[in-house]
Amino acid sequence: MSKDNVLKKQFAEKDVNRLRNLVKGKHADKSQVSVGFTKEANQVHNEGDVWTEGDKTWTIKDGIKQNVTKLDAAKAAVNLPIFCPSCKKVMKPHLDKKWYNMYKRCFNCQIDFEYEIRKQGLWEEYEKFIFNSDIEGIIEKFETWINEEIEHSEIQSYITEAGDVEKWTGSTKNKLLESKEEAIKYLQSLKKS
Ligand SMILES: [Zn+2]
Repeated sequence: MSKDNVLKKQFAEKDVNRLRNLVKGKHADKSQVSVGFTKEANQVHNEGDVWTEGDKTWTIKDGIKQNVTKLDAAKAAVNLPIFCPSCKKVMKPHLDKKWYNMYKRCFNCQIDFEYEIRKQGLWEEYEKFIFNSDIEGIIEKFETWINEEIEHSEIQSYITEAGDVEKWTGSTKNKLLESKEEAIKYLQSLKKS
């Protein structure tokens, strides 16, 4: 297999999809719908969810509803899942949060992953991949934002910094479209090839 194919297999499928799913909150997609069924809200819980029933905190790990004993740790780490999506071990907020935010896995998993990448001589490719993915993320956010601006440009009045009220016109829309293209072109040019 060529370097590129190895990369495609390793990153494109595993990491990118998982990352996207995690970002979209669809981390339960692969896992079965569960098992944890609370009486109060008739709510169905999925793998990785954390919720309280009475005075106990529960989660679902490997499809099994389990009591969470490290409630304080869970509270300390808003947005940090209790379990590492990769190794399924309990994450330590003070150590793992930063790594989870960046790579959606715990510190140990990231160390193992990077070691493996270096061993395979793919480090430069990997860095490039991460860098370009970040840029793609920025482009995506920018597009969402500017598309909304464009959508509203025809119906909204715009108050300038000087306090003037200026009606958004067709030409404003065109200007926005132009800057959109320019900005995206610029961001694309930052990508490493
Ligand atoms: Zn892990």
